[in-house]
Amino acid sequence: MIKTDIVIIGAGPAACSAAIYTLRAGLKTIMLGGASLGGQLLQTNDIENYPGFIEPVGGFELMDRMHKQCKRLGAEILGETVVKIDTSAKPFKLFTQSGKEYEALSVIIATGAAARWLGAKGEAEYKGKGVSACATCDGFFFRGKEVCVIGGGNTAFEDALFLTNFCTKVYLVHRRAGFRADATTVQKAKNHPKIEMLIPYVVDEIKGENGSVNAAVLKNTQDAALKEVKVQGVFVAVGSVPQTAFLAGSGIETMPDGTVKIVNRTQTTVEGIFTAGDCADAIYRQAVVAAGSGAKAAIDAIAYVNLHK
Ligand code: NAP
Repeated sequence: MIKTDIVIIGAGPAACSAAIYTLRAGLKTIMLGGASLGGQLLQTNDIENYPGFIEPVGGFELMDRMHKQCKRLGAEILGETVVKIDTSAKPFKLFTQSGKEYEALSVIIATGAAARWLGAKGEAEYKGKGVSACATCDGFFFRGKEVCVIGGGNTAFEDALFLTNFCTKVYLVHRRAGFRADATTVQKAKNHPKIEMLIPYVVDEIKGENGSVNAAVLKNTQDAALKEVKVQGVFVAVGSVPQTAFLAGSGIETMPDGTVKIVNRTQTTVEGIFTAGDCADAIYRQAVVAAGSGAKAAIDAIAYVNLHK
């Protein structure tokens, strides 16, 4: 049993920002960041909307800086995945996949969100064999190839632009005429000679040969006509789902969309357990918002611990 004042579940911007506050308040803080230690930002290329960086900063670099800042202040950042929280008694008990047990006076849940998949035929079969949800991680393998990106949000557009560094052709497939992505990024993609927009289409099937993708069958959302594009890669960028399934049965309730339910300020349905970042945010889901909400959760957790220590 490892005892601490605060356990922060996560290691992304919300978790790091929370840790900076709890550490500077003199509270022993352990961050259990799961296997990826840094979440979605690690899969982001150039971030241009995080204050303090005059030039775009890479997602990996930004996360690395945050982790180093937390460590300098005394955080322990561990690649442990929390599978269960026992809230029936205080201090709270947390159990990890590797069989470790932690005891904490307060917990901040900042587990973020993970890629949403399409559920199309062939998608699961060809995952890792041409189907990917991470252009940053896998784009390099598609040098000289033709690929499609599915989605109309910032991720899809940024992925499409990033993939032009390697690919000869990038189809951006979106199900309707409007985009969620910001106008500047949309315009950059529209102006790019390697990017072709295929709208309004959804993926009907991903086909392959000899164990790797060789085509995507698209269905027109207006007239249901099918169109096959010869691509060797399909990058799925259709949003994310909050990583909160492990909370089931803990008393920490979630909303119908999977985000952590907040009852007061940043407090969850269990007093002493707080939440921040994309796991509790169905609307904004920005690194800077996550960082801000991490500070808020920490301020609430510090007040709670100081009252109950
Ligand atoms: P998003 O904004 O939720 O966009 C998801 C896109 O996928 C939408 O265009 C949606 O279409 C489409 N979609 C959803 N389910 C689909 C399905 N089953 N089949 C086909 N298309 C489907 O997700 P995101 O792009 O990952 O962005 C998430 C958040 O992070 C956003 O707030 C975004 O602004 C932010 N973000 C910011 C940056 C940046 O600022 N640098 C970079 C990346 C992400 P509809 O529009 O028709 O619903």
